[in-house]
Amino acid sequence: MEKSKYRSRIPLAIVNEVLASKQCWGCNSTKTAVRKSIFKCRDCALEYNRDLTGSVNIGSRSSAIR
Ligand SMILES: [Zn+2]
Repeated sequence: MEKSKYRSRIPLAIVNEVLASKQCWGCNSTKTAVRKSIFKCRDCALEYNRDLTGSVNIGSRSSAIR
């Protein structure tokens, strides 16, 4: 985890967001399709909101840093 130059009690994590909205958070597959706001995984058939998919992936990447 990278430390900010500002003093804060809120932890800061720098997260790579590459493929965050295109990678399945259920099976990590990148064989996915996004139509309008729906994310679909072609490997495990998971369907989810596209924005929430990106949020889940970024959140899980930031918790993996700790
Ligand atoms: Zn999947």
